[in-house]
Amino acid sequence: MRGLLAFAALLVAVIAKESFEGHQVLRIIPKDDIQLSLIKELEDMIHFEVDFWKEVTRVNTPVDVRVPFHSLQSVKIYLETQGIEYSIMIEDLQVMLDEEQKEMMSVARAPEPRNTDSFDYTQYHTLSEIYSFQDMLVAENPKLVSKIVIGQSYENRPLNVLKFSTGGTNRPAIWIDTGIHAREWITQASGTWFAKKLVTDYGTDPALTAILNNMDIFLEISVNPDGFYYTHNNNRMWRKTRKPNSGSSCVGVDPNRNWDAGFGLPGASGNPCSETYHGPKAESESEVKAIVDFVKSHGNIKAFISIHSYSQMLMYPFGYTTTPAKDDAELHSLAEKAITDLASLYGTSYTYGSLIDTIYQASGITIDWTYNQGIKFSYTFELRDTGRYGFILPANQIVPTAQETWLALMTIMDHTNKNPY
Ligand SMILES: [Zn+2]
Repeated sequence: MRGLLAFAALLVAVIAKESFEGHQVLRIIPKDDIQLSLIKELEDMIHFEVDFWKEVTRVNTPVDVRVPFHSLQSVKIYLETQGIEYSIMIEDLQVMLDEEQKEMMSVARAPEPRNTDSFDYTQYHTLSEIYSFQDMLVAENPKLVSKIVIGQSYENRPLNVLKFSTGGTNRPAIWIDTGIHAREWITQASGTWFAKKLVTDYGTDPALTAILNNMDIFLEISVNPDGFYYTHNNNRMWRKTRKPNSGSSCVGVDPNRNWDAGFGLPGASGNPCSETYHGPKAESESEVKAIVDFVKSHGNIKAFISIHSYSQMLMYPFGYTTTPAKDDAELHSLAEKAITDLASLYGTSYTYGSLIDTIYQASGITIDWTYNQGIKFSYTFELRDTGRYGFILPANQIVPTAQETWLALMTIMDHTNKNPY
């Protein structure tokens, strides 16, 4: 019966959902500065509704764009006329989304997990499943894990943070978050896996045990729950928050352009319809403000790691300026060690560096704000892959992605623990 109900609910959801039938993801490689600016101009051709999955950065660096069926021919003609090379990464996005839904049906059909051991880490989960997972984990490990609600989202969903602590008061702490961008599903799935890994390894893995005997770890799995809910029920490709913008029919702010660090500088958009809209003012989004208030009131956070996808990159401040961070050398060598450890498991190769050098100028981002608050070990990840599947990473890559990322996280956490400041 439950399976039937779940199926019916899913059917309703499918009908209400935005279709991406015939949408293609193109990879465009700008060969010179002229091509670079011609590709940038696509962003301003609003009627084409081109969605930049990988932003325009520099010559010879690929740009991935989702092009709706209605403008596919026009965009291809535009590129061909200018002599700009492109290839088709995803032939029909909806085919991949149907495949993803089919896999998720196996979760809907399975009996509800009674504990975090029977939770299916190999599949993507809905927001309510992740909320229940968090409550089960706390109930099973009352001495190690607790749940803190640091605020409410715009649509009044709780902003849950799991606290892993073996005691003490206001110990030095490490923060990890996933899912600030709603459609980056591999991140929330990895965050869930990390939570289970923390309780499994405490007491058995000497390195993690040493960390947790000295520090607390805070983990926010769904920083943007409204957006995440929306990706499941309305539009799989949603990135931003869900707060309406006054004077515009476009909804949402990019919560990773909304922080009070270089806010509004180049590297964010002032257009409410843009995917990188910075919002009316810094910290306008309650999802961002909740973390800001938490970090300030805690006052003893030593590492802050914010996780995105995709591109396979590990980056540190700054994003809004080319001036190197004062800890640039240490951040650089630790990043190098972390990605080396990450690659040791499956050979997944990452690039690394300061954000502005590694991808592009981006302003109002999380880790620039945390670094300016004095949190030296501020890092951001872009998980798998490099564009074959992009945001629609197949579920069979969840556990391998989480496992390899864990190695890099351990490297950063261990270094933080051993190098107090
Ligand atoms: Zn992101």
